[in-house]
Amino acid sequence: MDRTGGTVKATMIDPRAMNDHEAIEWEGALIHHSATGPNVTAQQIRDYHVKERGWLDIGYHGVIQFAGGKWLFVPGRPLSMAGAHCPGKNQTHLGLCLIGNFMESLPPAAQIQAAAEVLSEWCVAFDFNASDIYPHKAYRQTECPGMVDILGLRAKVVSILAEG
Ligand SMILES: [Zn+2]
Repeated sequence: MDRTGGTVKATMIDPRAMNDHEAIEWEGALIHHSATGPNVTAQQIRDYHVKERGWLDIGYHGVIQFAGGKWLFVPGRPLSMAGAHCPGKNQTHLGLCLIGNFMESLPPAAQIQAAAEVLSEWCVAFDFNASDIYPHKAYRQTECPGMVDILGLRAKVVSILAEG
């Protein structure tokens, strides 16, 4: 990618985000953090990925952001589209980003609850298990998503699924 001109065309196709005419058979999900302050929005990340990086859409399939006094799931790129969040896993694993920087602190319980709720919906929709949810750092040389407790998150998903 030539960045010497200082701009990247927004129409540039992200080579890691190939559209598949068949529905993707998602095998699991990867958890990320935004490594930002807590008030960043999905739209700001989308603008960064599209305008600065030249991707087709935000790299994640969903974001848990703080809005209107609570933590909410905000849809990212379509679930029919390969991700742009973890090379090697973009065709198999959905990407969910928790807004915030969890290198030195844990995410709020309400944010984890919101994440568990959408992850349990994805488990049902795509027929994978809570044990198929991993931190980004399981597959890449990265600290992302910091101190997020994946085992605790999986347990919440299991309990939501058990409640039906
Ligand atoms: Zn990540």
